[in-house]
This record gives sequence, structure tokens and C-alpha cells, in this order.
Amino acid sequence: MHVIIVDPELHEVERSKPSTRIAQYDSLHGYLTFVLDGLRRLWPNFDDELQSAGGFVAAGDVKPFFGGTLMPAPYEEYESKAKKLPETMFIRRPYLENLLRRLLLSPSKTPSNIHTITGSVRTLDIGNSRNGPCVSAVIVRQANGNEITINDPTLVADCSGDSQAGFKWLKKAGYDIPQDMRLEYDQKLYYVTITFNVNTDMKHKIDAILREGGQKEGYDRIGWLYTFVPHYNVCNEGFVLGKMDNDTMQLCCGGWGDVSLPLSQGEIEGYVNSARGREPIPEWLLDTIRILVEDGEPTFKPLKIRPCSYIRYQDVQDLPGNFVAVGDAMLQLNPIYAQGCSKAMMGAVTLSSLLASCIPTRIKDGGKEDMPAYFSKKYFREVSNHGEALWESTKTFDYGFTTTRPAKGETLDWGAFARWYLDLFIDAALHDMELASCMWHVRMLLAPPTDMFTPRIILKLLSRTVQSRLGRLLR
Ligand SMILES: Cc1cc2nc3c(=O)[nH]c(=O)nc-3n(C[C@H](O)[C@H](O)[C@H](O)COP(=O)(O)OP(=O)(O)OC[C@H]3O[C@@H](n4cnc5c(N)ncnc54)[C@H](O)[C@@H]3O)c2cc1C
Repeated sequence: MHVIIVDPELHEVERSKPSTRIAQYDSLHGYLTFVLDGLRRLWPNFDDELQSAGGFVAAGDVKPFFGGTLMPAPYEEYESKAKKLPETMFIRRPYLENLLRRLLLSPSKTPSNIHTITGSVRTLDIGNSRNGPCVSAVIVRQANGNEITINDPTLVADCSGDSQAGFKWLKKAGYDIPQDMRLEYDQKLYYVTITFNVNTDMKHKIDAILREGGQKEGYDRIGWLYTFVPHYNVCNEGFVLGKMDNDTMQLCCGGWGDVSLPLSQGEIEGYVNSARGREPIPEWLLDTIRILVEDGEPTFKPLKIRPCSYIRYQDVQDLPGNFVAVGDAMLQLNPIYAQGCSKAMMGAVTLSSLLASCIPTRIKDGGKEDMPAYFSKKYFREVSNHGEALWESTKTFDYGFTTTRPAKGETLDWGAFARWYLDLFIDAALHDMELASCMWHVRMLLAPPTDMFTPRIILKLLSRTVQSRLGRLLR
């Protein structure tokens, strides 16, 4: 089997200039533990490679503060089984991309069956195999205007990110996909990523502040420092602060609707300090930010985030059996929940396991191999099992903000019960480790959202809620 990767920005293995096509190229990226787990399985020496790129691994704990109160991660649960809390990686996206490109494409490491073409896929030809409709050719345009045709591809995977080009290719090729197969809502989200350089003197100062502030880790071992999660009834802006590769730190501020994000050095401290919760922002965090602002030479990358969208390929009739879409090409989520790369990894895992299970059923015809007719349908059905849950859970939260433009045919009332349940859950989980652990596992995609609705968890939730309400009445 040969794999051909087509991308307009493949003329060099490692990018020497920022991508002009990926809007979020220099925005903060945090990764769920699932992504690191996947990369370690692909490259068993991944941790060493990560370290040589300046990145590092630390606990998968984003330290989420809801209304100023920390939702703890289940460290003790893992320690009681002589394990560590699953880890995540800390590396800015441009460094991770170059690392992955090096691992996949550098001449010394590339398996001989991986080939690249620098160019854009313009369209597909649809034909008929003995198994039914299929993509019979992929047409690629190169920068000099030349066109290349790849005939009889066994399988075509659309990985075109937020351009969701596969939808357009299929339509252009005369494929009949109703427009309402693509769902979209606009959460009206704005982001600014602020990057700081941390010199030796700053490291010492920050280390002392973290220790005096009672933090578990000092500068060397810390990953995420603090995440302020806004509640739609109280405020519409939040932030996250983390240490990244090569002695940098990033503060990402984001909000729904009418926002006043910090866009200059003088606005950063005021923004962080104005976050509204039950508890004030801790002094150690404000002191850390003060040092970063004064000496960290902040650079700013503001961005209006595109609307969320979901192409329900699983409902399309007679889709070409050899067409799949992976990552944002099928489902684009609100980046605030840091699920985008995990979702791309899930697509890859699903594709890989389906390919492994279907190889013996391929029909050999004069050397040409056809995918079984069910392949595409099965892929989209399996991948949408996870995708649908992600789409609905992020939408539930986004619809809490009155500035969100809902999907066609929906109102912001959609998900009202789920929002009520989630509020109850969060309130109780702030004071109950079993509920907090359940939430941590669901959030890291290590457990399905249905785990939040098991009879045991519902009983726990009810008893916690009754206890806390009684406690408040008696106070
Ligand atoms: C501001 C922001 C912050 C984010 N933060 C996080 C985060 O913290 N954690 C997280 O997990 N996710 C985050 N995401 C989401 C994450 O970046 C995406 O989910 C992820 O990059 C999707 O990967 P992908 O491979 O599907 O697409 P992309 O990474 O977008 O790659 C698409 C590729 O397709 C190529 N391409 C496009 N059109 C064509 C064509 N016609 N022919 C050939 N090639 C083409 C492009 O050149 C590009 O290389 C964030 C997104 C945004 C917008």
C-alpha cells in the first residue's frame, strides 16, 4: 500500500515560515491526554523527540477553576493504583507540527511507501467500481498551475481542516449532497494568545512565587497553571495560563460575544484580575502574570474563531465507498475545549482499525483493489458516535451564551436540561472527588459522557446536592 499526502505547503519537510493556511497556527494549543497516548503508540520514542524539540510532558490537569473554585484532577485515584495521572504534552503548535513533519517525512525516517505532492486538491472524479460509487480520480493543482491526476485511488481521506474541501469536491463532481447535511452554529468566539519569553531570572522568581503560593510543582515541573472557566450566567470571558516549550509561557484569553480582550501589555493584568467568580484570582497567579508582563516581551495573536460545523456524512446516500474525512474536514468544534487534535486522532484510530479489519475483503481485479461498498458508511457511522457526543456537548455549553447564533431550525433553548444538569454536576463535583473524577475522565475523552448518567453517579449527585442545600439552609 502506498500513501500519497497532498498539501500546498509541503515543499519543505519542516516549515521555515508560518503557515498561511492554518488560522490557528500560532494560537495556544493544549492537548488532551489521548493525543499524547496516540503519538506514543505511533512513535515509541516520542517523549525523547518531544524533548529534543524543546517540549515536555506533565500531568494532564488543566487546573480548571469554576467560579474561582478548583475542580481537582483524580491524582489520588491513580496513585492508589500505583500509577501516575495520565500525562499530556506542552509544545506550541508550530513546534509540534515541525516535529510531526520531521518524524513522518524526513528522508532518514520516512517509510518508502509514503510520498508527497506539493499542491491543492481541486476536485475529484466519481466513477463506479464493481462495489458501487467510488472516487475514480483526484485532481491536484500545483503552485505553477500544472495539474496532476491521481487515478484509481484505493481510498481518499479528506484532511483539509476547516476548509472542509471534501464537501465541495463531491458537490463539484456532481454528487448530490443536500446543503442541510452540513450543520453550523456561530458561538461568536474571540481569542487572543499572548506568548512570553521566560529568562533565567524570571524562572527563579516564578518558581519562588509558585512554591510560596502552595502549588504542587515549581517552574520546572509545572504544565498548566490556571484555567478560569466562565459561567454564562455570570460572565462571558475566561483565560488559561500554561508553560510551553523552550522556556515560553502562553496566556490565552477568550470570550463569547461582546468581548474586551487584552491586546496590549498594559491591559493584561487588569483583564485577569477582573475575572468574576466566587473567589478572587489568587495572588500567586497575579504575581506570576506581573513578572511575565514586565519582563516577558509579550507578543499578541488575536483571532475571531470560525463557526462550529459538522458534516453529517453518515446520512449521505450512496457516498463513494472509498471516501472518508478526518478531523476538522468533518467536524469543527469550539477550540476552547481543546478537543480538535483528539478528534483528529480518533478519526485516524477509527480509520486504521477499519482498514485492518477490511483488508481481507478487498476485491482484487487485475491488481486494482476496491474498498468494500460499506467502508465509507461504516467509517462515518463509527466516527460520528464520538463526534456527535462532542458536537452536542460543546453546543450545550455554547448555547448558554445569549450571543451565540444557533444552528438553523434550533433556538438557544436547545440543551436547557443538559445545561441545568451540568451546572448541578459541576457544583457537586467541586466538593466530591468521585464526581470530579468522572468529569475529568469524560473531559479527557477517556470515558463516554454517559458515565455522567449512571445510577450510581446520579444518586451521588443527588445526595451531594441535597447535603449542600441543607447545609446552606442551616447556615
Ligand atoms: C484558535 C484555535 C485554537 C485551537 N486550540 C486547540 C487546542 O488547544 N487543542 C486542540 O486539540 N485543538 C485546538 N484547535 C483545533 C485544532 O487546531 C484543529 O482541530 C486541528 O488542527 C485539526 O487538524 P486537521 O488535520 O483536521 O486540520 P488542519 O490542522 O487545519 O490541517 C489542514 C491541512 O489541509 C491542508 N489543505 C487545505 N485545503 C487543501 C486542499 N484543497 N488540498 C490539499 N491540502 C489542503 C492545509 O494546508 C493544512 O495543512 C484550535 C483551533 C483554533 C481555531
